Amino acid sequence: MSVFKRNSVDGLTSLPSREAFFSNVARLLSHAETEGLSMVFMRLENLGSYSLRYGASEGDAAVRLAADQLKQRVPIKRLGRYESGSFVALLPANEVAVVVEEVSKSLPTHEEADGLALKAGYCELSRDIELNETMQRARYAYEDIRYNVRVNSRRFDEGLERAYTRRSYCVDHLDEAIGRGEIRAYAQPIIRVLTGMICEVEILARWESEEFGFLRPDEFVPELERNQLIHKLDAEVVRLACKQWREASDQGINVPFGINLSRLDFELADMYAVVTEAMRAYDVPIEQVHVEITESAFSHSSELLSEGIDRFRKAGFKLYLDDFGSGYSSLSVLEGTMFDVVKLDMSLLQEVEVNERARVIVADAVSMVKRLALQTLCEGVETEEQFLFLKAVGCEKAQGYYFSKPMSHEEIMSHLHETAERHERPEDTRYYDSIGKVNLIDGTRSTKQGIEAAHFMGTQPFAIVEVLDQHVHFLLANSAFRRFISKSRARSIEEIEERLSGDMSDVRSKGVYAASKAMATGMPQQFDFIAEGQVCTLGLTHVEASEGRQAFLLEVLSVTRYSQYNNFKVLEQSLGFLYTIFKRIDLLDLTDNTWHNIYLNVPRYNALRVDETPDDEIEAFCKTFIHPDDQQHFMSFYDLSTVDQRLVESPTNHLADVFFAVGENDRYDLYIFMLIPVQMDGHCQFLSCMRDLDLDLDLAGTARERLSGDDRVSDEVLLSGILDVTDRNIFWKDRHRRFLGANRRFLDYYGLVGVSDILGKRDDELGWATNNERFVNDEMRVLRGERVINTRGTTLRGDGQRREIEVAKMPLVRDGRVVGLVGFFRDLGPHE
Ligand code: C2E
Ligand code: CA
Ligand code: CA
Repeated sequence: MSVFKRNSVDGLTSLPSREAFFSNVARLLSHAETEGLSMVFMRLENLGSYSLRYGASEGDAAVRLAADQLKQRVPIKRLGRYESGSFVALLPANEVAVVVEEVSKSLPTHEEADGLALKAGYCELSRDIELNETMQRARYAYEDIRYNVRVNSRRFDEGLERAYTRRSYCVDHLDEAIGRGEIRAYAQPIIRVLTGMICEVEILARWESEEFGFLRPDEFVPELERNQLIHKLDAEVVRLACKQWREASDQGINVPFGINLSRLDFELADMYAVVTEAMRAYDVPIEQVHVEITESAFSHSSELLSEGIDRFRKAGFKLYLDDFGSGYSSLSVLEGTMFDVVKLDMSLLQEVEVNERARVIVADAVSMVKRLALQTLCEGVETEEQFLFLKAVGCEKAQGYYFSKPMSHEEIMSHLHETAERHERPEDTRYYDSIGKVNLIDGTRSTKQGIEAAHFMGTQPFAIVEVLDQHVHFLLANSAFRRFISKSRARSIEEIEERLSGDMSDVRSKGVYAASKAMATGMPQQFDFIAEGQVCTLGLTHVEASEGRQAFLLEVLSVTRYSQYNNFKVLEQSLGFLYTIFKRIDLLDLTDNTWHNIYLNVPRYNALRVDETPDDEIEAFCKTFIHPDDQQHFMSFYDLSTVDQRLVESPTNHLADVFFAVGENDRYDLYIFMLIPVQMDGHCQFLSCMRDLDLDLDLAGTARERLSGDDRVSDEVLLSGILDVTDRNIFWKDRHRRFLGANRRFLDYYGLVGVSDILGKRDDELGWATNNERFVNDEMRVLRGERVINTRGTTLRGDGQRREIEVAKMPLVRDGRVVGLVGFFRDLGPHE
């Protein structure tokens, strides 16, 4: 007679079925010693992916192979097939590891990282414990090592015993615990990164058990899921959450909350009904509740899940995709636009401080989620560095111990009361949600410097600026922008804010104009200004408005960004407006000792080839173009070895001087030359600009009109260039040689308080220069239309010292008539 009835044999493997195994074992134990024998639960790992790869029949073959291998090592009466890929056996404890290892080695793809492998958990038999219970423990031991790649078998020992009883306690006592009020709804604040305000809380379950004390979800949620009880817990947590929200709301605190739902919730209960019922009971509005569903819920498709989620979504709940990037990742979850917010798993953030790659991953994840028009929330923020990093990459919300731990109802209530003025209102939410859509990372800018550079250093400097009641506030700035600021004179964003908020700033007035245009047209606007010797081009785009606040995206498109010479096109564009006033613009690089001509409009002059050094070009230009009397001064002005030192001493941040050079009709005209330092990544560079000193007042006027129509450059360029930046003393007079004005330098030279001291007076009336007949003659000639180049003479300086000076003079022309003159003089030292 056969030992097995027909249905007691498993068709695939010819092993005893689960039932047959248990009756075999029961029979065995009734008449044999069980000492040293263990119940073993074994499972074939990675069978699913193996079957997917090689086909179901290969999967079956692998199961058969494992069964045959087991049969060779375990008596058939002590062996059984448990479920599809799992087996049970009775073995002496000390043999388990060997059997498991040998069988494993015989399996195909065993060598591969995700290949087939056998793993086992085992529990010694004991007279006091039922077989089925022993089996559960063996399985529990298996679960413990399931994801541990280094371990293949585990004994159910005292360590596991404690956790096991706790878990089975949870399963057995859930109803009771709910009845006794042991389930608690803790809450953890979620912070708007941009403002630091509390925008919502997440509800997290806790179990304050009479028997085991304080339990965290990791200790009971998986077990409740396994035993299909999770919906009961979640119904209770949702009820508590609604009740607590009501209590807070009655005290004037309205902070939205999120609940966690499991995939099984949707299969075990009508979760939508459960949630909405609780909300109705406590009169909680829908916009105050959002639903979190973990990414792993989508690891296998479930109709009930997608239907359930759809119901929540259609009803208007916000949906959060939890634990994104935790390992189950499948980007297809994001394909349908079911979700509003993606919660980045804390494992992603953990390495951010030490690992450049982790930074790239988080930055990219944030950027990708934004491109899908969803929001990002990062959990597990524990340090300031992590928080600042999230801010820099534009993550919108954050949660973690750095802000607060999950708190009991009493704790969260007092916390919310204390922080009442820092809660986000619905109007703020709309405003900041819009701002949050700005993607701060331009992933397309990869450079050879590597991924870090591509994302955080190679990016265009960006900032988001808020304007409220004339006050300018930087809500956010990416790291490129911070670097940009740190290199400027202002050094800090706060200082820039202060400057921009003042009335006097030129940048401000241009910015205000661009901002109003950006708001009116909805189109990005550009504007330029000159500060600290740099030409800056900024882009401004209107992002959102709320209660008098206006938010703009501010981009720096300036010269500073374009250090590479092949980026010259961009530099040329941003300098385009300067062409109308400059005759020549070059970029001199002192680090590389190279130069590039950007623009040249000097008649009959060809610049040298670019492979010559800057000094060669300067000398060549000087020889052919500059008046012989000015050549020496010109060369010392362009002495690049002293530029830095002279800049330090200069009250302005650039150098300028005027020289006579051959102009139209082969006549010598005065030209202004400027050296403007340009900060570019590690390179010491200067823009060298040359423009004519347009003393034809009407022409100057038209030039100005022409430019102001473009609203890009103001009188600043025209006038500051002449009056304030040169190291010459400048004065101008009318046809009767009476003073009309002078620059500050001139006034200081003579120790005068203001222009009124000289206005309308002649030199003799002021007691000056009467002994310098030559100067008087010069002026008469100039008033007849001539130019005077560097006449030497002496003057009495304000401190009473007699000084050698060198004076150049030009006629001032209006309507083709000479209406006055302008003089420039340079101090050459004390008169011997
Ligand atoms: P989760 O939804 O990802 O919740 C975040 C977990 O991270 C919480 O653990 C929270 O206490 C913890 N956490 C928050 N900030 C930090 C931090 O800065 N550092 C670290 N290391 N951890 C932080 P908790 O409360 O133990 O919850 C664990 C998981 O249990 C939750 O993960 C969620 O999946 C599940 N869970 C919690 N409550 C419920 C519930 O009511 N129903 C269901 N179905 N699942 C729940
Ligand atoms: Ca969650
Ligand atoms: Ca999570």
